[in-house]
Amino acid sequence: MADCLFCKIARGELSTDFLVETDQAVAFRDINPQAPTHILVIPKKHIPSLAQLQPEDQALMGELLLLIKELAEQQDLGDGYRVVVNIGRDGGQSVDHLHFHLLGGRSLKWPPG
Ligand code: AMP
Repeated sequence: MADCLFCKIARGELSTDFLVETDQAVAFRDINPQAPTHILVIPKKHIPSLAQLQPEDQALMGELLLLIKELAEQQDLGDGYRVVVNIGRDGGQSVDHLHFHLLGGRSLKWPPG
């Protein structure tokens, strides 16, 4: 989508450093980190949110989760980490392009606010 921030990042238009890039996804550091490690993993395909997922996205979602697992290993998060997907306004979603937050590097509290 032309005006979508994360689509622009995925297309490489904003000079973002990617930790990983595959045919279908990219991972990059959150600009406003909430933990020592805070990485965003996004599909290149524009999916507005988890609520708009379609059956044909099943394999893509599997690829993203495996990518997150590999990133967590690369980032030395063996003591644990959290994967978060915010959905919609009440869910705290501020960018309308599906993204997974990978948070770690400190002891995370539960429940989140
Ligand atoms: P959410 O609130 O779940 O939609 O998460 C959106 C995240 O994107 C927030 O944690 C922001 O800090 C992050 N963010 C916004 N703009 C950028 C950017 N240009 N580069 C990296 N992260 C960003």
